[in-house]
Amino acid sequence: MRRPRPLDHDPESAALSDTQQPAVSGDSGATFRTLRNLWPYMWPAERPDLRARVLWASFYLVLAKLLTVGVPYFYKWATDALDGDRQGLEWLPLVLAGAITLVVAYNVARVVSVGFNQLRDALFARVGQYAVRRLAYQTFVQMHALSLRFHLERRTGGLSRIIERGTKGIETIVRFTILNSVPTLLEFLLTAIIFGVTYGTYYVLVVALTVVAYSWFTVKASDWRIGIRREMNDSDTEANTKAIDSLLNFETVKYFGNELMEADRFDRSMARYESAATKTWTSLGWLNFGQGVIFALGMGAAMVMSAREVQAGTQTLGDFVFINALLMQLSIPLNFIGFVYREIRQGLTDMEEMFNLLSVRREVQDDADAPPLAVATGAIRFEDVRFSYDEGREILKGISFEVPPGRSVAIVGPSGAGKSTISRLLFRFYDVSAGRITIDGQDIAHVRQDSLRAAIGIVPQDTVLFNDTIAYNIRYGRVDATDAEVRRAAELAQIHHFIESLPEGYDTMVGERGLKLSGGEKQRVAIARTILKAPPILVLDEATSALDTHTEQDIQSALSLVSQERTTLTIAHRLSTIVDADEIIVLRSGQIVERGTHRALLAQGGLYAEMWTMQREASEAEETLRRAREADALGVVERRAPADPLERTRQEL
Ligand code: ATP
Repeated sequence: MRRPRPLDHDPESAALSDTQQPAVSGDSGATFRTLRNLWPYMWPAERPDLRARVLWASFYLVLAKLLTVGVPYFYKWATDALDGDRQGLEWLPLVLAGAITLVVAYNVARVVSVGFNQLRDALFARVGQYAVRRLAYQTFVQMHALSLRFHLERRTGGLSRIIERGTKGIETIVRFTILNSVPTLLEFLLTAIIFGVTYGTYYVLVVALTVVAYSWFTVKASDWRIGIRREMNDSDTEANTKAIDSLLNFETVKYFGNELMEADRFDRSMARYESAATKTWTSLGWLNFGQGVIFALGMGAAMVMSAREVQAGTQTLGDFVFINALLMQLSIPLNFIGFVYREIRQGLTDMEEMFNLLSVRREVQDDADAPPLAVATGAIRFEDVRFSYDEGREILKGISFEVPPGRSVAIVGPSGAGKSTISRLLFRFYDVSAGRITIDGQDIAHVRQDSLRAAIGIVPQDTVLFNDTIAYNIRYGRVDATDAEVRRAAELAQIHHFIESLPEGYDTMVGERGLKLSGGEKQRVAIARTILKAPPILVLDEATSALDTHTEQDIQSALSLVSQERTTLTIAHRLSTIVDADEIIVLRSGQIVERGTHRALLAQGGLYAEMWTMQREASEAEETLRRAREADALGVVERRAPADPLERTRQEL
């Protein structure tokens, strides 16, 4: 298989393959990588206006902090003034040095500092939100670029949760690193300088020791708690994926009456969450208590030192309250920084998961200089194609065939023979292990995927629709189609009359995954959107579910209309629909065992002839059953049990 190129933004973690589950590590290397990945979004080269915002926000940040450490001075002067002590206030004119004036000034300074802080936050909000949007967008694009294999192995609920938490993580980092940690560090430095200059090194030592011990304890305790938080996250994801999976299978749960079992399964995951979440809270209690003790020791020491100096007359009463006020003020962000550190670590972990997702290597990738596919006639060739989903189990074992331009080839064979795999390979959802597939002579592995997929239309076995209107779903084939074109396509797909008969017509909502429409209706919507797409190559993956004869005829005539003049590959389950194919390929266990026209294959008396006979028997049984039902409805014959051969044949084919 070809090795795709890594993504450019993270060469190291890009070594992960599409199918590997990215591991979340809490080491500092990973943290550094995550921050480095985030940097271009916080300082975006393409948005000078946002860069200017960052600069202005930083300016207000410094201003606010200078003011914050200045505020306790007014408090000190006011106290001294009240105490009748003008020592150190000689430089202030008497009128301004009055206690009341100083108290007012103290409060004004506080308000102005709060104002600057808010200005800083407001300026920064846009930068943070821009990063959130860009990253969420890129992750979404990446989700669609990853291979089918990746999506089959991951759970949608889990993925959406990673994106949700990742974007929240960015907000956390922005809010707490830039708007909190950096200012707190600045405040600590300013406080240390003030203490050093005014009261001497012992005070600086006490403050520094307190802050260091406090930070050390916080970091250690938080690291311990991160493991607990991770367990909480994992169980949260697990409970969420279980709930989504269960709700997606709403009908199946009802069919089997397994509501209680589902609720039980969900509850078991929630029990894990409950215990992890409880541990998270109790550990938080210990952390907060420890922080409180350390700070009280530091503050107590500084206040005792000051109290003794006041008693000795070397400090004023104002100095005593100043020291207390400055430390109390520092305790607010410090108290917060424990929480901030935990949030930052958590945010980093969540973001790491998202960046890991972003750097998962795309299994199927375009060559750097891949040209678009140039479709002339639409001839398809499979040349000795080999393929396995997983090592050790080959699904296609050297398949070669050709669909000449405008012709139709049908692939038939028992269930699990590899028929749908052939269509997945043609769409290049996977790269072949050996051999090649060409369209008009161009190897599909070396043309652009978007051009390849634009050239092929598919009517899939199971049509899943978007939870939107019928018109929206049909227009999905060509988003710029006019209403008239949508209507025309619906007419050709023989579904227009049905749509018109609905009270809301084309504006009818189809429900989640299109569940409000029947299988036959959904398939005709799929045919209509393929008609709108009008591709030169068509893949018809026939519905396995038995449709009633009338619907089947409608669908068949719609399909033959679409496939006229188009190179058509039909994956057939019901042989009656492909008798006119130019060539029928019979596949068994990944190998072509027979090929030819319907007549030739019947004459050959091999697997195809056998399958044909079995299906005839099955349809006869079906016919008998139908007649019996009709008679039953008329009250003539008693209802009989369903004919067994039908079920047997379905399972075998
Ligand atoms: P059916 O008629 O029942 O739709 P099919 O002939 O279309 O069957 P495929 O869907 O091509 O069969 O599957 C061929 C084999 O590959 C099956 O045995 C299936 O279990 C296996 N297979 C299909 N998809 C995957 C996958 N994503 N990973 C691993 N094995 C897979």
